[in-house]
Amino acid sequence: MGETDNYERQHTVTEFSDATVRSLADRVRGTVLEPGDDGYDEARSIWNGMIDRRPSLVIRCTGTADVVAAVDLARETGADVSIHGGGHNVSGSAVADGGLMIDLSSMDGVHVDPEAGTVRVGAGALLGDVDHETQLFGLATPLGVVAETGVAGLTLNGGYGHLSREYGLAADNLREVDIVTADGEVRTASEDEHRDLFWAVRGGGGNFGVVTSLEYELHEVGPEVAQLFVWYPADEARERMATFREWTESAPRHVAVLPFLAQVPDEEPFPEAAWGEPALVFFGCYRGDPAAFDDVVGPLTDGDPIADLSERTRFEELQALLDEDYPDGLRYYWKSLYLADLGDEVVDLMVRYNESAPSDLSTVDIWWLGGAVAGVPQDATAFWHRDKPFMLTFEANWEDVDADDENVEWARSGFAAAEELTLSGGRYGNFPGFAEDPAHLLFGENYDRLVDVKTRYDPENLFHLNQNVAPEA
Ligand SMILES: Cc1cc2nc3c(=O)[nH]c(=O)nc-3n(C[C@H](O)[C@H](O)[C@H](O)COP(=O)(O)OP(=O)(O)OC[C@H]3O[C@@H](n4cnc5c(N)ncnc54)[C@H](O)[C@@H]3O)c2cc1C
Repeated sequence: MGETDNYERQHTVTEFSDATVRSLADRVRGTVLEPGDDGYDEARSIWNGMIDRRPSLVIRCTGTADVVAAVDLARETGADVSIHGGGHNVSGSAVADGGLMIDLSSMDGVHVDPEAGTVRVGAGALLGDVDHETQLFGLATPLGVVAETGVAGLTLNGGYGHLSREYGLAADNLREVDIVTADGEVRTASEDEHRDLFWAVRGGGGNFGVVTSLEYELHEVGPEVAQLFVWYPADEARERMATFREWTESAPRHVAVLPFLAQVPDEEPFPEAAWGEPALVFFGCYRGDPAAFDDVVGPLTDGDPIADLSERTRFEELQALLDEDYPDGLRYYWKSLYLADLGDEVVDLMVRYNESAPSDLSTVDIWWLGGAVAGVPQDATAFWHRDKPFMLTFEANWEDVDADDENVEWARSGFAAAEELTLSGGRYGNFPGFAEDPAHLLFGENYDRLVDVKTRYDPENLFHLNQNVAPEA
């Protein structure tokens, strides 16, 4: 199987002359790296070990001026250009094979304004960088559920996390972004300036330029919350997921739950008799009155679990709990589709695929959406799939380099089976597999408006190594 069938078709190799590289190095504060340079291999390596691409040039930007120089060079040379925020998108779109990679990972500053209730975040920051600073003030903005994840890509494609049912997507909490568009101009996009661009970046991904910083609204969160983490034998999945489905109909917004099917890890504190056995896990975050925890989540925790690791903890620690499960360099292929309902047939499919997973590290997950995400009109931002209450994700995670084909095939086959179910569809830009599917599946009826904005700001499609919205010819 071609590693990333989609990208290989799109890439062209650009040779940059010595004079071009020298002139660029003179103009920027950051580091310019070519194949063979010290640091080049480190720069081109991203979280997903499946991605082995060789940009002709990497620019490790230290600020917006460097980004402008990089965008100008891409435009002048016609090189393929990729944008590396945190480098965590599973598709590897951060790395342009044979092209120019704009690496923002050094631009990771975070500044909280507690008075204004906002945080300004550099586009190379990870979630943990943001939570660490905002939690100092007992504040947070909705991001994802793993601290070691890039903020920029997550937000520009939507962004679901523990706070989303109460406060919306990461993108819904954006107040403004600074962005370098294809013409090399630095623009601020907000409800007051470049409103069309602001509409488009909230869900439209990396199509419209290089976002250099993002400002978010903050909310009071924690610092202490309750972690929900209960493991049951998978043969109880049907019954327990039916309880979960019923419970979601009246559960409050300050509790978030992400059920997934997995194998019990071979380690303490799990009982040895259960090691390697298939399990249904309820993972989540409860932010209400501690005394009411049992009343609120009781239906999900009663009975005789394999292990119940629920406890009071700091929000920042809960956000980092799963970091160790997703180390840099492991091999990953993740893909999602939305569900209008969570019937037994979905649960049966999850159980079946969990049992047939070639790797014990893989999971099949349900994201419980709705709440504040669904409260925003579908055309208010570029993010379309707000009306779906659940999202199903196949997460293939494996170590063995020789097992790529069977693991990718496992996830693709589960995904294809899920697509056969009624009431499923759409795509989520943050779990796109190798981005092999057409972009309109992400954007629904917002697609045509995205084409208009793209045509205005990037008529030559400079930023095309993404889930691409092509401009009008
Ligand atoms: C361990 C892990 C846990 C995750 N958990 C969640 C979760 O809880 N919720 C969720 O919603 N998602 C989650 N994700 C998915 C995550 O949101 C995506 O992988 C996201 O794209 C990562 O952002 P990044 O900046 O690291 O992306 P990169 O890989 O750096 O970039 C991917 C693409 O995003 C665009 N992009 C990135 N930065 C910029 C920028 N500054 N300007 C313009 N375009 C840009 C570009 O098109 C780029 O090709 C998780 C991913 C991982 C690896």
